[in-house]
Amino acid sequence: MDSSLPSVPTFVETLPGATEVRSLDLSVVVPIYNEVESLPQLVDAIAIALKETAWRYEIICVDDGSRDGSTDLLRKMVQTHPNLRAVLLRRNYGQTAAMAAGFHFSQGEVIVTLDGDLQNDPRDIPMVVEKLQEGYDLVSGWRKERQDAPLTRLLPSKMANALIGWVTGVRLHDYGCSLKAYRAELVMDMNLYGELHRFLPALAFIEGARITEVPVRHHARQFGESKYGLGRTFRVVMDLFTIAFIKKFLTRPMHVFGLFGLISMVLGIALGGYLSFLKLGLGQSIGDRPLLILAVVLFLTGVQLLSLGLMAEIAMRTYHESQGRPIYRVREVVGQSSSARSPSP
Ligand code: UDP
Ligand code: MG
Repeated sequence: MDSSLPSVPTFVETLPGATEVRSLDLSVVVPIYNEVESLPQLVDAIAIALKETAWRYEIICVDDGSRDGSTDLLRKMVQTHPNLRAVLLRRNYGQTAAMAAGFHFSQGEVIVTLDGDLQNDPRDIPMVVEKLQEGYDLVSGWRKERQDAPLTRLLPSKMANALIGWVTGVRLHDYGCSLKAYRAELVMDMNLYGELHRFLPALAFIEGARITEVPVRHHARQFGESKYGLGRTFRVVMDLFTIAFIKKFLTRPMHVFGLFGLISMVLGIALGGYLSFLKLGLGQSIGDRPLLILAVVLFLTGVQLLSLGLMAEIAMRTYHESQGRPIYRVREVVGQSSSARSPSP
C-alpha cells in the first residue's frame, strides 16, 4: 500500500504520535452493540472484500457491552478468523467510545470504520481506501440512496448535514455515514467523546486535513433494530454548537463572547432609549410594561446560559485532556495480533 501513497508530505506527518510504527496496511474498525445476527456475515463479507487486495489488514470488532451474545460469538470467531481481533469493553459506552477504542488498538496505517449491522457494504472498503490514496486524509462515505425511514431519519439527517456544513464550512452530504477511511495518525490523537465521532471530518478539517466524499452503497437493516431514537438529534445539535464554538474559540474567543456581548448591549441600549423616549419625549409612564422587561431578562438569561454552557464544555474538554482518561474501559482484547500498539487503557 505504501508504494501507492502520494509522495507529497501530508499534514499528519507533522502531528505528534505520527512516528509510531504501524505494522499493517489497514485496520477495519467496527463498533458492535447487540449485532449477534449480522456478525458472521459481516466478518465474512469484509474478508471477501479484502481478499482481492494485497493489503495486510485486521478487523477490529469493538464489543460495546452487548447483551445479546455478540461477546461470546466474537470470542469464538477470533479463533477461526486469523485477521479478526475483538476489543471487549466493560459496558456500553456508546458508538463514539467504541470507535475510539478501535482506533487505539488499531495497527493499520489506514483505518476504515463501518457499522456492524451490514447497512454499510463491506464491498465498498477497497474503494474508499483507494480514494484515500489519491491524496486525502479522510474519505467520507455518502449514502446517496439511503435505506432508512424518510421522516424520522432522512429528514433530520438532511437538516443536520446542512447545518453542520454551514457551521463548520465542511460541506459533506452525509456526515452520519459510518463508512469512512482515515489516515491513522489523523484520528489517533483526537479526543473523542459524546457524539463527536460524526464530527470527525469537521474536527479534522480544523486541523487542516484534506477531505473528500464518495458515494457508497447502503442497505436497510436486516437484523435487530437501530440503537438510536430522536434523543440523538438533540445531542448532535448540542455537539454541533460546541464544534462551531471550539473552531472560533481556540483562535479568537473574543469574537464569540464579544459578539454576544455586543448584541445584548446594543439591544439593551436600544430598549433603554425606547423607554427613555416614551418617558421623556411622550411623557408616558413606563412602569407598566412588564413584557418589555421580561423580554430583556429572557434574552440576557439566554445569553448567559449559552456562555455558561460553552464554558462548561471547554472545562470538560480540558478535564478529559488533563486526565488522560479514556472514555471507555477495556475488559479484554482477544484475537491473533494481540500486540497492542500501546498499553491497554
Ligand atoms: N453502536 C455501538 N454502541 C452503541 C450504539 C450503537 O457500538 O451504544 C454500534 C451499532 O452496533 C452499529 C453502529 O454503532 O454497528 C451504528 O448503530 P445503529 O445501526 O443502531 O445506528 P443507525 O444505523 O440506526 O444510525
Ligand atoms: Mg445502522
